[in-house]
Amino acid sequence: MALQCSFAELRALDQGDLDAVQALLDACTRALLAPSLWLWAIGLTLACGAIGALLGLAKGRWLWGLVWGAALGPLGWIVVVLSASARTPCPECATPNPPGRKRCRHCGVDLVAAAARSSRSRLRDASRRDGWQ
Ligand SMILES: [Zn+2]
Repeated sequence: MALQCSFAELRALDQGDLDAVQALLDACTRALLAPSLWLWAIGLTLACGAIGALLGLAKGRWLWGLVWGAALGPLGWIVVVLSASARTPCPECATPNPPGRKRCRHCGVDLVAAAARSSRSRLRDASRRDGWQ
């Protein structure tokens, strides 16, 4: 019977018997280098990354979601779900638009001009509030 890499074998190991130590080490090395283990690990990483990318796509950050999902799996999905959206809400209809978009995909409002208007109005409000009188 071939030696299995397990905690039970490790506990029963006589550390003075170097042949037994080497045999267990060989069994554990074979287990870690088994192609089926690596296929599972790679497949799971790709699946978690794909789910993270889908979650990130809803926030306009698919690559960010892919990296977090592939790196941390379900914990990365939570990071992506709890993160801020990169989508720009339309000032007219409040539809979230992907980053870098020039016009609203729902009503066609010019988002670049609207952003400039809103930043100018923020500056104007700030100068009124703080006062330059
Ligand atoms: Zn709109």
